[in-house]
Amino acid sequence: MIKVAINGYGTIGKRVADAVARQDDMKVVGVTKTKPDFEAKLAKKRFDLYVAKAESIELFEKAGIEISGTVEDLIKKADIVIDCSPDKVGAENKKIYESFGIKAIFQGGEKKEVAEVSFNALANYNDAIGKKYVRVVSCNTTALTRTIYQLKTNFKIGRVRATILRRIADPKEDKKGLTNAIAPDPIALPSHHAKDVKTVLPDVDIVTTAFKLPTTLMHVHSLCIELKEIVTKEDVISVLEREPRILLVSAEDGFTSTAKIIEFARELRMRYDLYENAIWLESIAIDGKDLFLTQAVHQEAIVIPENIDAIRAVFGVQKEKSIEKTNRTLQIGYYKI
Ligand code: NAD
Repeated sequence: MIKVAINGYGTIGKRVADAVARQDDMKVVGVTKTKPDFEAKLAKKRFDLYVAKAESIELFEKAGIEISGTVEDLIKKADIVIDCSPDKVGAENKKIYESFGIKAIFQGGEKKEVAEVSFNALANYNDAIGKKYVRVVSCNTTALTRTIYQLKTNFKIGRVRATILRRIADPKEDKKGLTNAIAPDPIALPSHHAKDVKTVLPDVDIVTTAFKLPTTLMHVHSLCIELKEIVTKEDVISVLEREPRILLVSAEDGFTSTAKIIEFARELRMRYDLYENAIWLESIAIDGKDLFLTQAVHQEAIVIPENIDAIRAVFGVQKEKSIEKTNRTLQIGYYKI
């Protein structure tokens, strides 16, 4: 049993905790919170609750929420920490992990230098075997990497161009708002996503542009991939269909927008978490040497299976064994439409 500590029980942390709890080879030994809010109260019903910072102890005492200690107390009980703190805070937290000599998984909001390896389960699982510090790449990078990896391992491909339409905020983030605008992000090209894809797929020639849109449900990516051999649309579909972490959806079945994909996900799983890339069947088209496709990405959920696989990788579990188990326990690939 791998004993897992979750430092930062927010959007990603609570989902990683739930996913770990579903595995038979690992367990959650505790989660941390910084504020005694409703999320802390809910967390305490399921897991041992610790504070991420000692200065929060008083807040929890005043709120009458009993805690089991500080993050340092939690680390002593764990074999690995999954750092799910806000962007760039993980790099600060790393100093604590180093002082305890504990392994840690970081998230995509950290710079790649925080870890020895940036991770995507399909693309470079084996690079993380036995490592101490691993960074699971961001939601957009995870989705781009899965699709590009699946295509490049089956076809000869050239340059990839991708436009990323980014949800402005997660549904809970009431402080952020973009009510009537679309913002190029950044205005000067390219966006950082291409560089990030190269942290897990170094030999891919890719350029990306990105825009922030006033929506909270999902990101959407429009991809154009140069083909260096003759490939049919049917070949592409059959290759994408074979990967459980990719779900092909069709407008004929009612998947006309991200709203409909999320409505479908609401019927499937806890918190409507869609762990798969959703690629629109009708968007797959070949024009000359260019393959086009459009995919939707549930940003809050897509990196969760990768975190579970990253835990197994650092403890030396074989790639196929881990991915199969993660897919089975999270029911990934069960809902082919
Ligand atoms: P979040 O704000 O929802 O959650 C972060 C949690 O960390 C909060 O509960 C916060 O109280 C807590 N926290 C604050 N300071 C802390 C500290 N010093 N130590 C430990 N915990 C602390 O953020 P999130 O969306 O879950 O993002 C976490 C990480 O995952 C970021 O690196 C982010 O870039 C990445 N990520 C987010 C998404 C997404 O769509 N939300 C997708 C993929 C990756």
